[in-house]
Amino acid sequence: MNPFKYRGGGLFAVVIVLGPIVWLCIYAAARIVAGGVESDASSMASALPHFGFYSGLFSALVIWAFGTLALFKFPAAGRAKALSPQFDRDPLSALIGRKAFLSQLDDGVAAAESADRQLAVIAIDLDRFKSVNDIWGHAAGDEVLRESVFRIRALVGSDTLVARMSGDEFAVMIDNEVNPRSLKHLAQRIIEELSEPFEVDGAAVSLSASVGVALYPVNSDSGEALFRAADLALTKAKADGAQMHRFFDTAMENHLVRRSTMERDLRLALQRDEFVVFYQPQMDLKSGDICGYEALIRWERPGEGIISPMDFIPVAEETGLIKPLGEWILRKACQDGANWISSGIVAVNFSAEQFRFPGVDEMIRDVLEETGLDPQRLEIEITESLFLNHSSDIMATLRRIKALGVRIAMDDFGTGYSSLSYLTRFPFDKIKIDRSFVGQLSDDPQIGAIISSIVGLGRSLSVDITAEGVETNDQVALLQAAGCSIVQGFLFGAPQRADIAAQAENGPPEKTEAANGENGSDIADQVGGRDDSEVEGDIDDDIEEAVA
Ligand code: C2E
Ligand code: MG
Ligand code: MG
Repeated sequence: MNPFKYRGGGLFAVVIVLGPIVWLCIYAAARIVAGGVESDASSMASALPHFGFYSGLFSALVIWAFGTLALFKFPAAGRAKALSPQFDRDPLSALIGRKAFLSQLDDGVAAAESADRQLAVIAIDLDRFKSVNDIWGHAAGDEVLRESVFRIRALVGSDTLVARMSGDEFAVMIDNEVNPRSLKHLAQRIIEELSEPFEVDGAAVSLSASVGVALYPVNSDSGEALFRAADLALTKAKADGAQMHRFFDTAMENHLVRRSTMERDLRLALQRDEFVVFYQPQMDLKSGDICGYEALIRWERPGEGIISPMDFIPVAEETGLIKPLGEWILRKACQDGANWISSGIVAVNFSAEQFRFPGVDEMIRDVLEETGLDPQRLEIEITESLFLNHSSDIMATLRRIKALGVRIAMDDFGTGYSSLSYLTRFPFDKIKIDRSFVGQLSDDPQIGAIISSIVGLGRSLSVDITAEGVETNDQVALLQAAGCSIVQGFLFGAPQRADIAAQAENGPPEKTEAANGENGSDIADQVGGRDDSEVEGDIDDDIEEAVA
C-alpha cells in the first residue's frame, strides 16, 4: 500500500522530516545547556550532548514509528489529495465529477471494510437553483455554485472528498468520525450555510439546500449503491418540502427494489412488444380539422392492464432504458405517420434524458429515412428541463435536428420556470401551453390575459401556440378570445389506439380512450372523477358545439 496515496504525501513527508528535526533540536538544546554548565560539573557537561543525541534519536524513532503506523492504519482519510490526475476536474467548481467520485467511493468503501469502520455519503442539492440561472443569468448561477462549494468545503474540511455530481448536486464522502449524530449535525450545518444569502451582482439571492445521507455498511456495501441511497434520501428530502435532510431508510429501500423490479420488467416489456402508442388529436379551431396527433405511450402489462407513462417513463429515464424505448416510440409514430395519418403533424415526446446519449439527431434521421415520413411532419416535444444543465451541447443537437426539417415544440409551457429566455435562445416551432394552466382559465381572468400575451409573443416570434388539456367549451371560448386556435384535450378526443384514431381521420373523433373502455377510470379520474358515460356524453355534445 502506498501511503502517499492516502492521508496525503504531505503528511508522510512531515512524519519523515519531523523525526530528524526533533532529534537535532534535542541534541542542540543539550549542547547549549552543556556549554552553560559550571566547569566543576565537567562530567555532566560531557554527558549532556550524548544524552541529547540519544534521546533525540529515540524521539525521532518514536515519531517515525507512530506516524507510519497512523498512515497505514487510517488509509482512507484525506482522500481528496489522493485523487489521481486521470480524473478531470470541473473547471467551474474545481471539483471532481461523478465518475471520479464513484471510483474514489469504491476505494473508500474497501478501506472502510478492511479497517472495520463506517463511512457516509452526503448528497446535497441546491433548492430553486434553476431560478437563479433564469432570473440572473448563467454567470450569476456559476458564481452561486462556486460560493456553494466554498461553503461546503469550509464545513467538511479541505481533505474531504467533495464532488460535483451534476448541475447543482454535490456529494461528500465522510470517512472520519462517522456516527449518525455528527452526520445529522453536519447535514443541518450544510443546509444552514447554503441557506445564507448569496451575493449576486450586488443583490442578495436566497436559496436553500436539501441533503440525503447514506451509511456504509448499514445501507449498502458498494460505492455506487451507497451514492444511489444518499441520492434517494435526497429525493425524499426534496419531496418532503426541501431545505431539510433525510437519512436513507428501509421504505426508500423498498422503493429501490420496486424500481429495479420495474426496470427488469420494462426490459422484458420491450422484448415482448408490450408497449402501445396511443394518439390524441390536435384540432385547428378555425378550420375544425384535425391538424396533427400527439403520440403518447402506454404499457399494456399482462394481468395489470394499461399502465400510464407517468408511472414508467421516470424509471426508464433513471435506468437509461429511455434510449431504446424512445427510439421504439419514434419508429412506431413515424410508421403510423407515414401509413394512416394522411396529413398534419405527428408529435413525439422526448425526455431530457434521451439527449444525454450522443447521436439523438442521427437516430431521428435514420428513423425518418427508414419509415419514409416527411421530416416536416414530425414534431419533437421537449420540456424546459432539457435546458437546465447542459445547454450548449443541447442547443447544437437541437439545431441539427431542426436542420433535418423536423419541428421542435416546447411542451408543458406554464409549468416549471417558463423562462422566456429559452424562447429567444432557440427558434421553437410551437409552444404548448400546459393543461394545468388551461385548467385555471375559467376561474382566473388573469390566465386569459397571460395566454393572450403568449399568443402575441408566438406571433412575433413566428411560433405556433397550442393549448393542452382543453376539456370544456368555456375554455375553448376563452382560448379563442385570447387568439389561440390550436387545441388538444379530452373535449376533442382523448388518446386512443392507432386503429381507432385512424378511423377518426375523416372527421372529429367520436370515441375516446374513456369511451372505449381503455383505461376508462384513469381518464375519468383525470377529467375530475366523472364516470365514463358522463365523459362520453359531455364530449359528444361539447365537440359539436366547439367545432361549430
Ligand atoms: P404531455 O406530453 O404533456 O401529454 C399530455 C398529457 O395530457 C397526456 O397524458 C394526455 O393524456 C393528457 N391529456 C390530454 N388531454 C387532456 C385533458 O383534456 N385533460 C387532462 N386532464 N389530461 C389530458 P399521458 O398520456 O398520461 O402522458 C403524460 C406525460 O407522459 C406526457 O405529458 C409526457 O410528458 C409523458 N409521455 C407520454 N408519452 C411519452 C413518450 O412517448 N415519451 C416520453 N418521453 N414521454 C411521454
Ligand atoms: Mg407532450
Ligand atoms: Mg404537455
